Amino acid sequence: MIFVLGIDAATWTVINPNLGELKNFDRLCRIGEGKTLVIKEKPISASIWCGMFCGKTFEEHGHDSYVSDGNIVKREDIEVDFIWDILPQRGIKVKALNVPFVVPPYNFGVDFMPVGFGLPTNEREWEEELQRITEKSKELLNEDLDLLISVYTLLDRVQHFHWGEDLVLEWYKKMDDKIGELLFDSGFLDNKDNKLVVISDHGFCSFGEAKIQTLPQKTEEGELKGDHHENALLITVNLDYNIEKPQDIFFFLCDEYKINP
Ligand SMILES: [Zn+2]
Repeated sequence: MIFVLGIDAATWTVINPNLGELKNFDRLCRIGEGKTLVIKEKPISASIWCGMFCGKTFEEHGHDSYVSDGNIVKREDIEVDFIWDILPQRGIKVKALNVPFVVPPYNFGVDFMPVGFGLPTNEREWEEELQRITEKSKELLNEDLDLLISVYTLLDRVQHFHWGEDLVLEWYKKMDDKIGELLFDSGFLDNKDNKLVVISDHGFCSFGEAKIQTLPQKTEEGELKGDHHENALLITVNLDYNIEKPQDIFFFLCDEYKINP
């Protein structure tokens, strides 16, 4: 089974200096390979997650916003085939949970109600998303699937509002605990045939340092302290495919299942 675990906005800037406290990220880096994925396109979540699973650049898929002309953009508005549209035609069993290229995030083959419309904004919602994505993903890992894609979105929101505060590391620690449950306690990584990709769509930095401002500084939920950075996170286990851009996830999966993209 291949498991692509997305963590929106996960960044080495927080993880690297704190590997002593982030035991499961540390373990992952030891058994697998960690690297920085430099995003050459604008680091906008909708666009990057979309490209990662359809293999197209923004120029090709044209999707970079949750809202267009005052309307919420839907899956049907984006004229591409995603990996989960292609693989099942070849009998490959795929499920996808909470992929945030649209809001609420997209599910394929999974019945799941996203937390906070996919934009969880307070501690209660962050906690709820952590719990529910973890539980659902554990359930799906126990099914007879070939490919599972799951994405957590909460760190993006935590960092937009609290970048620079101790609170950020607190939420990385909570995420680290869940990763332990999901990848190690579940036995997923004990099976040497299993392949894992942990990936983010962008990193994070102080609001004023971001090359591209993704949100206005003043929002209804408060003033933003952080914004997207082009250095995203990538950790792979048991992969011998070189991933250098988000779209390579799509190409890796096509290669793995012998599909001509
Ligand atoms: Zn993002």
